[in-house]
Amino acid sequence: MGKWLTAKHAAEQVRAEVAKEAAHWRAEGIVPKVAVLLVEGDPASAYYAETKRKIAGKLGIEFECRTMPPDAREEQLLDIVKAWSRDASVHGIMLELPLPGHISASDVAAAIDPLKDVDGVTPANKLAVMTGEPGLYPATPQSCIRLLQAYGYTLEGKNVTLVGRGQTVGLPLFHMLQREQATVTVCHSRTIDLKRHVERADIVIAAVGHAGLITADMLRPASVVVDAGINEREDGSITGDVSPEAFEAAEAVSPVPGGVGTLTTALLFENAMKAIRLQTQAAKKETIL
Ligand code: NAP
Repeated sequence: MGKWLTAKHAAEQVRAEVAKEAAHWRAEGIVPKVAVLLVEGDPASAYYAETKRKIAGKLGIEFECRTMPPDAREEQLLDIVKAWSRDASVHGIMLELPLPGHISASDVAAAIDPLKDVDGVTPANKLAVMTGEPGLYPATPQSCIRLLQAYGYTLEGKNVTLVGRGQTVGLPLFHMLQREQATVTVCHSRTIDLKRHVERADIVIAAVGHAGLITADMLRPASVVVDAGINEREDGSITGDVSPEAFEAAEAVSPVPGGVGTLTTALLFENAMKAIRLQTQAAKKETIL
């Protein structure tokens, strides 16, 4: 019989710290502000942007969402992101992905000032994740690790099977898990016999986008499972990559919703506070020079 690794408590703790730091910056005369670029056409993206607006309001963080039509040109998006990157009143910039197919998400991401890149999508921050240099790391991979830590699960020496090697979650998480001293097996769409790799892991992290991919028969009573997948059902509700029966078969499973995603949103704002610290330090350095 498993237990749920819910993120409510951990997310509340992160949000409380963020609210405290946001109040500190306001007292210093800096009004924290996050800006989100949304291209219409993906209902899930619009929902996520709205969720961020609500949370920002509760944390004392200003929020701007610029909504563009589905046929917006790449140059228009680049102009917006470049303007925010130059604007000292904007401290964090996020892109709601996916962007329409005629726009290169990586080109738009590359135009974000790395010091304002709160979701770690710029080349500089991607490199930082790989090398372990300081930087703004993507929120969802951080969330997977922090959720485990919140329940006392350590990673050092553990066999972790990571299912998915996508740019947003799996790939950065692979580097971060190794730095936590885990032994990491990465599975993907060409992996032969997924069950064999999942079943021998102490910790399984699913980041695919395929509902029910991780089934109960792949797990052992000692398996700990983090589900980062988000899949939309026909009725509009969301579900993860782990099948509902897996809960009974494993020691612990993170729920969807209420798990990785909940903590991810809080960590985006934690990154926004870190971004202000980095920008303030950079501004001080410039003054000295
Ligand atoms: P992605 O870029 O589409 O990558 C998906 C990965 O899954 C790829 O590496 C793919 O393999 C692998 N895959 C596909 N089918 C597979 C199969 N049958 N068996 C094993 N691996 C398979 O996705 P992403 O952007 O990294 O996102 C992954 C999931 O996380 C999605 O569900 C997304 O919605 C979710 N997500 C959650 C949050 C959150 O806050 N909770 C945030 C962002 C994303 P190949 O490399 O071989 O193609």
